[in-house]
Amino acid sequence: MRSFIRTCALLLLLALPLSLAACAAGGSEKAEPEAIEPKGKVYYTYFDTVSYVYDYAGDSAERFDDRSAEVSHILKEYHQLFDIYHEYAGITNLCTLNKAAGGEALELDPRLIDFLLCAREMYDRTGGEMNVMLGAVLRLWHDCREAASEDPEHASIPDAEALREAAAHTDISLLEIDPVKCTARIADPLASIDVGAVGKGYAVERAAEYLEREQALGYVLNVGGNIRCIGSRPDGSGWVTAIRDPDPASEDYALRIRTRDTACVTSGVYERFFTVDGVRYHHIIDKDTLMPAAYYGSLTVVTKDSGLADALSTALFCMPFDEGLRLTESLEGVEALWIFPDGEQRMSPGFSAWIEEI
Ligand code: ADP
Ligand code: MG
Repeated sequence: MRSFIRTCALLLLLALPLSLAACAAGGSEKAEPEAIEPKGKVYYTYFDTVSYVYDYAGDSAERFDDRSAEVSHILKEYHQLFDIYHEYAGITNLCTLNKAAGGEALELDPRLIDFLLCAREMYDRTGGEMNVMLGAVLRLWHDCREAASEDPEHASIPDAEALREAAAHTDISLLEIDPVKCTARIADPLASIDVGAVGKGYAVERAAEYLEREQALGYVLNVGGNIRCIGSRPDGSGWVTAIRDPDPASEDYALRIRTRDTACVTSGVYERFFTVDGVRYHHIIDKDTLMPAAYYGSLTVVTKDSGLADALSTALFCMPFDEGLRLTESLEGVEALWIFPDGEQRMSPGFSAWIEEI
């Protein structure tokens, strides 16, 4: 469902004719640049979602094959390192780290250490709203969501007491990282890590870094709605991304933005949810209530770094507007769009520059 919606969003993005993009970018009098047929590849195996690599730069088929294969390789490696449900031969990943909770520190791949340090920094920057150590609480919600998909008639939400007990094992200091020894440990056997809020965006950024090193400007990555544009189209214009109307009854789009050389990430109530007695429960959990955050229908962040955009989209989703706006304005190059449950839209001052007037 989630993937389908995101797939639709991107297809709309790509279905916009190049001539429309050229008019919007340069005025209708200008000669339209010769249209370059974009090339695309799709992968179904990473981060429980659909991943796309698009090339608008006019690379040869062979070069596109090489570059998309390397992007796929990077996504695969991070997918395996971040997986909390499966282990892989020869890899000590986050599933292994969770299993070892309360025990000895484990030696980890340096990329995983870098990521954990970054996730901890995101905790600090977001006042703890995005907390990768929320695993014990998130698992209760995850289990109810899975059970609901098996047997919707008997769907239920986690017990309040169980949530409170789990929340006693979510302190960020339980994640001990030693960057010198390249080890990490979870200090409490009942605590666990869950990087769903930031892992995908972080991995996309590593793939974008590779493309930037290659000077592959004119590529777009979309991994389950984490969109990262590398450079712009050859004519200098950007790509149109449609932001969904989060109203569950709507199939429409709330806004279209034109982005280039940046990431665009949305967290929304419609992405993953289950229903109990007619009430929908989505997957982004407010650390204070231990319930799905109730402030917004969706939250979009536009900023260059896809990892930061992903972490912030989840964190801002869990914060009152004034607080979120203050945080957004304190971060350079970060813009956000808040869509409230009644459809009201508010944005940070620089966001309007991205809006595509239709
Ligand atoms: P998506 O994964 O659908 O793109 P998000 O980036 O907002 O959406 O991440 C949601 C995921 O993050 C959840 O599925 C869960 O694994 C995790 N999560 C939910 N709430 C929090 C939170 N407050 N802090 C950290 N992680 C969270
Ligand atoms: Mg996120």
